[in-house]
Amino acid sequence: MEKFSDTHFRQQFPILKSRVNGHALVYFDNAATTQKPACVIERYQEYYQQSNANVHRASHALSASATADYESARKRVKSLINANAEEEIIWTKGSTESINLVAQSWGRTTLQPGDEIVLSYSEHHANIVPWQIVAKQTGATIKVLPLGKTGQIAIADLEGYIGERTRIVCVGHISNVIGRVNPIKEVIRVAKKHQALTLIDGAQAIAHLKVDVKDLDCDFYVFSAHKMYGPTGIGVLYGKRALLDKMPPYQAGGEMIKTVSFEQTTFNQLPHKFEAGTPNIAGVIAFGSALEFLEQQDHLGLVAYENALTSYCFSELSSIPTLKFLVDEAPDIPLFSFTLPGHHNHDIAAALDSVGIAVRAGHHCTMPLMQYLNVAGCIRLSLSAYNSVQEIDFVIEQLKKLTQTVITGSKLASLSLDNKAASFSSPEIARLTVDDIYSMFAKAKSWDSKHREIMLLGKKQLPMAVENKTPLSLIAGCESHAWLVSDINAAGVYRFQADSEAKVIRGLLAIILAAVDNKTAAEIHAFDMNNYFSDLGLLQHLSPSRGNGVRAIVHKIQQLITE
Ligand code: PLP
Repeated sequence: MEKFSDTHFRQQFPILKSRVNGHALVYFDNAATTQKPACVIERYQEYYQQSNANVHRASHALSASATADYESARKRVKSLINANAEEEIIWTKGSTESINLVAQSWGRTTLQPGDEIVLSYSEHHANIVPWQIVAKQTGATIKVLPLGKTGQIAIADLEGYIGERTRIVCVGHISNVIGRVNPIKEVIRVAKKHQALTLIDGAQAIAHLKVDVKDLDCDFYVFSAHKMYGPTGIGVLYGKRALLDKMPPYQAGGEMIKTVSFEQTTFNQLPHKFEAGTPNIAGVIAFGSALEFLEQQDHLGLVAYENALTSYCFSELSSIPTLKFLVDEAPDIPLFSFTLPGHHNHDIAAALDSVGIAVRAGHHCTMPLMQYLNVAGCIRLSLSAYNSVQEIDFVIEQLKKLTQTVITGSKLASLSLDNKAASFSSPEIARLTVDDIYSMFAKAKSWDSKHREIMLLGKKQLPMAVENKTPLSLIAGCESHAWLVSDINAAGVYRFQADSEAKVIRGLLAIILAAVDNKTAAEIHAFDMNNYFSDLGLLQHLSPSRGNGVRAIVHKIQQLITE
């Protein structure tokens, strides 16, 4: 499968024509960030080439042109979400900054001991941690709304959580793991009944739903441009004007003031009061192009297409016998979270990556949700209107292969290791030398086959004895749990044992240990790990999180030998 169906919409996204690890890119990580259409990429460059100037300040033509484009993007956002006025649209860096702004500006000056902030179990960390911080600063407390079987906020007992002490209810419109539209109108209704404010985190909803803040009647609505085909580093805080007017500035500096003297400073009007300093002008202007691009699309057509992708992908995933969805029933947007028992989430993601498929695995910045659902993490496929049925077929084919096949085929497959735990006296780990690793990788030319070798190494590593898996031996910075312990003999020679829940990390550990095991501290220090990885062609291919994992392992080894 090399070419995926080229709809007109898809053709606008140049990156989708690229190849990753020797395969046509299948980008199923749209909930993390969407790809950008050519008009957005070009607008960004055009701004710097033709109208770069600061906004609102200088009295020259370039500044006037930049200001006009910058403010016209604000108008587009106003009409996108049906706000009352442009003053209600505040530019921020993204959903995260928008929530922090409300927490610090409104929350810190309003909340009192005994006041309650209501969140839900499915919130992204961005809609939890800012509230925890402000709760600590003010003495307020946090209450958490439970979820129903389908993963949506349960409305049966809202009044049990939202009451007289509630000052604000902050919930996601759609969770980035569950993919179902929350009953936010009902949540807002109950909050209003108790005179509590509402903040809706629309980071996942904005690319898929028509959002009307007047109809919702929420007090704040936040989202990020990069999840709706716009650039990174730009986001929106919508707030009702009366509220924003009363809130103090969040950050201080240029742009947000009216007058400054050492005796007294007065603040600018909305929206500038909340936009201190030179903003991300290019980002805002390019976001304006993304919005214009969306305005030009047949919205209903895109929604119908996304719905068709959702039903198709859900039914295809359901045909994988061992696959377990995190919640019951199909999602409302093409976002699917599941586990494949018997396979580590990161192993699946790494295997898909080796054939050009981008998905996300882990806790998805929703650790409390993972605990609530009693899973360590999950695999998430998130699609956009530029994805195709053929891409879904390709992913399903790969998932079926992965859940059915047992990796075989390198010299290591012939090693028969008993199923016991490694100990420092067991020589298996040390059997591999750097030369063995080089020769394995010399034969593995493509990233697919390198990935297979890593997985095979992972599979053949002896597990570490349970008693050695302690908080002390845990490798900090590895996304999957990984442990490393060392032993040193009288001659100053180190032996290492390592383990991880993920085969891919176990494989990487085997590669690293081949370079350091049975050596003295001086020999380990002298070994150039960066060169080794680059010679093996690994670092340039490893995903950022796994690249960090490798660095974390090397760091832990260095710590152990200098202790
Ligand atoms: N809220 C939700 C539901 C999200 O999915 C995300 C990002 O994934 C955020 C908030 C944070 O968005 P950003 O990183 O763009 O600020």
